[in-house]
Order: sequence, then structure tokens, then C-alpha cells
Amino acid sequence: MNRSLPFDCQTCGACCAHSADWPRFSTEPEERLDALPPAFVSSDLSGMRCEDDRCSALSGVVGERTSCLVYALRPDVCRACMPGDPECITARRARGLPI
Ligand code: SF4
Ligand code: SF4
Repeated sequence: MNRSLPFDCQTCGACCAHSADWPRFSTEPEERLDALPPAFVSSDLSGMRCEDDRCSALSGVVGERTSCLVYALRPDVCRACMPGDPECITARRARGLPI
């Protein structure tokens, strides 16, 4: 965790449980996509498999303790989302987490 950032992702996870449209594939290298466990990939192969709005690779309890089960292989959109950016704020607000 970078302590200069405003929020701790490991006690949050809100953006990973905000929308099934969120963890879609875009510009990932083929090798990274191929390495993802199929159980975590949507049936149409367009992104991560979600249950309702929650990514299937999110472990833990949102707002308490969470982790990404495929962190090293996570999609580019997940890599781009930074604590404190607009998407982060939207997701945290929707969960009633402090902003
Ligand atoms: S919503 Fe923000 S603080 Fe929470 S996990 Fe996503 S980037 Fe991290
Ligand atoms: S792949 Fe990981 S970082 Fe991306 S939405 Fe799913 S749990 Fe979150």
C-alpha cells in the first residue's frame, strides 16, 4: 500500500463490486488473458465474470478486508483505477464508505 494515497484498497474493494460493466478487457496482452483462470472470466470472454455487480475475483468483505485473487493478471481497467480518482470516489460513495 502507498500510504501517501487517500484510501487503502485492502480495506475497501468498492470499485471491484460496483458494476458488472467495470472489469472488462481492453488492451491486455494475450498472454495475460490466457493465464486467467477460466472460472473468473465471463462466458462471452469480454471481461471478468461478475456475480451481480461483484467481480468473481474479489475476495473478502467490501469495506472491511478485500483482495484480488488475480492481482498480477488483473485487467487494465483495474490497473488504471487509483485510490482517490473519480471512479474510486463514485464506488466508495455508492457503498457509503468515507470519502
Ligand atoms: S474504490 Fe478506491 S480505495 Fe476502494 S479499492 Fe477501488 S481504488 Fe481502492
Ligand atoms: S480483477 Fe481484481 S482488481 Fe479487477 S475488479 Fe476483479 S477483483 Fe477487482
